[in-house]
Amino acid sequence: MVNRIRPAWLVATVTEVLPETATARRIVLDVPGWPGNDAGSHLDIRLTAPDGYQASRSYSIASYGPSSRVVLSVDDIPTGEVSPFLTHELRAGDQIEVHGPLGAYFVWRPAGFGSTTGPVQLIGGGSGIVPLYAIARAAADAGRMADFRLLTSVRSPEDQFFATELDALAAAGLRIDRVYTRAAPSGWPVAPGRLTRDSLAAVIPDAATIERSYVCGPTPFVEAVAGWLIDLGHSPGTIRTERFGG
Ligand SMILES: Cc1cc2nc3c(=O)[nH]c(=O)nc-3n(C[C@H](O)[C@H](O)[C@H](O)COP(=O)(O)OP(=O)(O)OC[C@H]3O[C@@H](n4cnc5c(N)ncnc54)[C@H](O)[C@@H]3O)c2cc1C
Repeated sequence: MVNRIRPAWLVATVTEVLPETATARRIVLDVPGWPGNDAGSHLDIRLTAPDGYQASRSYSIASYGPSSRVVLSVDDIPTGEVSPFLTHELRAGDQIEVHGPLGAYFVWRPAGFGSTTGPVQLIGGGSGIVPLYAIARAAADAGRMADFRLLTSVRSPEDQFFATELDALAAAGLRIDRVYTRAAPSGWPVAPGRLTRDSLAAVIPDAATIERSYVCGPTPFVEAVAGWLIDLGHSPGTIRTERFGG
């Protein structure tokens, strides 16, 4: 477990801004004084305009561990206040304020409090994959990948965050089920369409065999999936959710 003392706002320097998808950017920060973070946690970003106006938003952390290098991935919400700045204006060398790590509930640890000993199902919609990628990566690094399965729902293959990294985890043995809501790769056996109770039931193991599920994404996605899991016999206490808004 990493140090969970949360300092006040820290000044982070942007070291890289990379394309994630057509609408999202991967943002790599160096945060001197960062206490490290568990897989699945998030932070708050605070932006300050020249006139002193401030806006803050939460972002999941795609990296984990004791390093001061913190990786985020932010999707552009064109009507939004903060994400258009982060995805279009932010440049390497810029400084922003961050506060965290936050969220002791939606984390996974390889041992001790917050850990698991049995099967874990990860279910992410869109950018909701960010903390789940961190958890899958942590499970792989801990030699626990065989216990984990991931279901990712995106509009099209081009909208998959961490596509290369997920392909590598799949090649190394992580079971990944993919749902494409608008456009599937050619030859894909299922027509594009939203996840449903029945298509969820078809790909996840029986409730009795799952120790914990993590569900993350836009609020309607998370609420629908959590409801279906309960309907399918999953105990509410085994389901951890993170809602991104929307
Ligand atoms: C714990 C947590 C972790 C998060 N992690 C991430 C992350 O890793 N990557 C990421 O891209 N976002 C993440 N978010 C969402 C993020 O905090 C912002 O809500 C998002 O970037 C939009 O902010 P904005 O200022 O651009 O839009 P706002 O000005 O806040 O909202 C503008 C409009 O967009 C709608 N909206 C807000 N958020 C969303 C959304 N996520 N999807 C669709 N519509 C939305 C609002 O309802 C509103 O109508 C996370 C949210 C939480 C609570």
